[in-house]
Amino acid sequence: MKHRTHTNGQLNRAHVGQTVSLCGWAATLRDHGGVNFVDLRDRWGVTQVVFRPEPDKDLHARARELRPEYCVRVTGKVTPRPEGTVNTKLPTGEIEVEVQSLEVFSRSKTPPFEMEGNQAISEEVRLKHRYLDLRRSATQEPLFFRSRLINAIRQHLTGREFIEVETPILCKSTPEGARDYLVPSRLNHGEFFALPQSPQLFKQLLMVSGFERYFQIAKCFRDEDLRADRQPEFTQLDLEMSFVNEEDIFEVIESMMAEVFEKAAGQKLTTPFPRLSYADAMARFGSDKPDLRFALEIRDASEVFAETGLKIFKQTLDGGGVILALKAPGAGGRFSRKDFDDMVTFAKSQGAAGLAYLKWTAAGIESPIAKFLKAEEIARLGELLPEGVKEGDAVFFAADKKRPAQLLLGAVRLELARRLGMRPQGGISLAWIHEFPLLQLNAEDGKWNSEHHPFTGIHPEDTGLLGVDNGAIRSLSYDLVLNGNEIASGSIRIHDAVLQEKVFETIGLDPEECRKRFGFLLKAFEYGPPPHGGIAIGLDRLTAILTNRESIRDVIAFPKTQKAICPLTQAPSEVDPVQLKDLGLKIA
Ligand code: ASP
Repeated sequence: MKHRTHTNGQLNRAHVGQTVSLCGWAATLRDHGGVNFVDLRDRWGVTQVVFRPEPDKDLHARARELRPEYCVRVTGKVTPRPEGTVNTKLPTGEIEVEVQSLEVFSRSKTPPFEMEGNQAISEEVRLKHRYLDLRRSATQEPLFFRSRLINAIRQHLTGREFIEVETPILCKSTPEGARDYLVPSRLNHGEFFALPQSPQLFKQLLMVSGFERYFQIAKCFRDEDLRADRQPEFTQLDLEMSFVNEEDIFEVIESMMAEVFEKAAGQKLTTPFPRLSYADAMARFGSDKPDLRFALEIRDASEVFAETGLKIFKQTLDGGGVILALKAPGAGGRFSRKDFDDMVTFAKSQGAAGLAYLKWTAAGIESPIAKFLKAEEIARLGELLPEGVKEGDAVFFAADKKRPAQLLLGAVRLELARRLGMRPQGGISLAWIHEFPLLQLNAEDGKWNSEHHPFTGIHPEDTGLLGVDNGAIRSLSYDLVLNGNEIASGSIRIHDAVLQEKVFETIGLDPEECRKRFGFLLKAFEYGPPPHGGIAIGLDRLTAILTNRESIRDVIAFPKTQKAICPLTQAPSEVDPVQLKDLGLKIA
């Protein structure tokens, strides 16, 4: 016999009169003058079932012993709910099931938290009992969404003749710039595998092998401090293509995203997505991942203040710095004195010395710096800023070297948008940021580092700058930004062993070390590597954004905490001394 005839989300008026069997968990139990009602829950929904004192006294007595989360099966007749008790919010709200038999599969202890309702429960407790946490529809939803998303991605890419290839989990250290998770080798004491930080080199090798279009839903591992919303293991859609340029990759991702968003989230996207160079994004939005759902644009006001009497601006300009300005429409009227003070405190929390501002009021311009500025400077500032300035507006300034000034106003921009209610809850804004710098100078050791990773190609106009003006070299890397979050990054790769070695050398890897770490790639490049490039999309973050979850932990079935611990299984944990001996390891 089948366990059940229907699920708990299925029955409606059309089933009235039928005898049905349902399985599920007792979600809520109510006693109304001796008649017992149970809401039976499964992943499909909730159905109200009824136990009456007559005619089966024994059945009724057993029903009264049910407790929340008992797992049961009931068989009974579908009947319409009496007038006035119909629940229009529930798909099954027009009917109930008059129970004729009850089977208790298993009992449940009282759960450590309320399973129904939405009171706050500490994450520690939820994760410790994740199997119960995940029994609740609100926690299940993002996982269902995630499954639809991944399914739509697979369908789209296989439809475009991509091949899904699994790459090893036990591998050699990969160079994404984080710390590796290491796995000791039992057969070769003193040697270690690394868990992949990404399948980067394998996917490049697959291009050398001629697969041309590869993808993988890939688990990646990075042993980082989990300050931000990160996980030690996370999932990427990893993709690589041969004989392509940047635009080809953009087109594949755009058409995939358009289809996937429509299928999984019912959202229509406009393609192509806007493209912004890194330099442009930094200049206009003070960020390489700008949230473009609201306007607020930065302007360079250095010219305006070239001859200023305001000392701090003048000193900054004389020292080779810039004066950047950001208009906050309406902030002059809406912000209190305290709001302005808060903005200054905010700027200081970002490492700035302060935050100058001007406020346009009915009585004229108000600001501690107003008396140092000439009327002509104010007028030229008005001409420079988008749509000028009018009563009620405020303008904030950053005076510093270019990059820190941009970053400061980038942060101020987000904070202002938040305070002014300009940052929407929903909405989708996707944009490509490209032409990132290839290298970044590490201020501490004076060494050049790869901004993306060392396999990133060089912008054809800048190849001559390698070793000449490293800081000015643009790369062929790109990020996809969704509502101010970087959700993907990738690049057109280097496919020339000589150039690859030169880049390694520039970032301070000696030839011996290169040979040890990446020799296999350089070797492969001796056998006709095709031009190739790719990208990886962070699926945890994408799912979190699309399901409006704050944390990626909400879209991962069994996540780790900020301390990289699994409260459910208590991993990591000590191991048997015999295991250590087998591996040739001693705990220091
Ligand atoms: N492997 C890179 C990453 O994980 C992505 C790529 O370049 O395709 O960020």
